[in-house]
Amino acid sequence: MTFPTALWCRSRRDGALCTRPRGHAGLHNRQGTSQMWSDVEADPAACPGGGSAAQPAPLLPNGFPGGRALCPVCSDFVALDNGAVVPHDTFRGAVDGAEAANRAAWFNTVGWN
Ligand SMILES: [Zn+2]
Ligand SMILES: [Zn+2]
Repeated sequence: MTFPTALWCRSRRDGALCTRPRGHAGLHNRQGTSQMWSDVEADPAACPGGGSAAQPAPLLPNGFPGGRALCPVCSDFVALDNGAVVPHDTFRGAVDGAEAANRAAWFNTVGWN
């Protein structure tokens, strides 16, 4: 089963996510707002948190997130290389239900700190 958020475009500008379907034509739009933007105006996909020093996140009993660290910028779980977050795209929502459930459990257990 595909997780619903995987079907969204999810371009973002100034942190506002596009709520149109993936692959749509025309401008990006945040539903319920007057915000519209083009690909040129969209935020770059690469997260500025790449290269930040980080520690592996505490593990849940099921092993999640498997040695990844919580990105200090976008709050995605990202692999580490020599104690630094590897380059990655800004988190735009979990792409599958298992990841979403594990993220929810992790934040409920470990919390934001
Ligand atoms: Zn869009
Ligand atoms: Zn990030």
